[in-house]
Amino acid sequence: GTMCRARVRLVFLGAAGVGKTALVRRFLQDTFEARHRRTVEELHLLELEAGSGLRLRLEILDTSGSYRFPAMRRLCIGRADPDSFAEVQRLRDEILEARRGAVPVVVVGNKSDLAPGEPDPRIAAAQRDWGCACLEASAKQGRNVVGLFQELLRQVNLPGRLS
Ligand code: GDP
Repeated sequence: GTMCRARVRLVFLGAAGVGKTALVRRFLQDTFEARHRRTVEELHLLELEAGSGLRLRLEILDTSGSYRFPAMRRLCIGRADPDSFAEVQRLRDEILEARRGAVPVVVVGNKSDLAPGEPDPRIAAAQRDWGCACLEASAKQGRNVVGLFQELLRQVNLPGRLS
């Protein structure tokens, strides 16, 4: 059959320390590190055969969490925002303003291993109020990590499947 090509860029946004790098690393290398290494900004490129003759160029941009203000970023080293969900709300507003809503978004509540068995009510509320995909994940346990990438690809209407 014919070969199709597609290019998709996934951007990981969120407060410093929420586990963006850990989620990307779990997806790419299936490993986890307990130590927090600061990310300035990293772009990972991979080419996937996504099935049905689709060749997918996946660009994964891992941002630092205070990407706008380098000075703030330095000050925040090692200190996660105690309410990282407030940052999600700010980021969502900015995305809607910049792209007029025409951008697939998945809200991820990471570190679900720290509160096992308790669904985070903020995730359910975001799903209800924003109508976007929201899921809990754990980079540490590998829970739902492939799932969040699947969900993003599903939203950009690619027929591909990740395994
Ligand atoms: P980033 O600043 O958002 O990229 O956060 P990192 O990926 O650097 O993670 C910050 C810290 O949280 C590190 O010490 C990670 O080991 C830890 N961490 C990341 N994901 C998880 C998780 O799913 N569960 C737990 N318990 N810790 C995590």
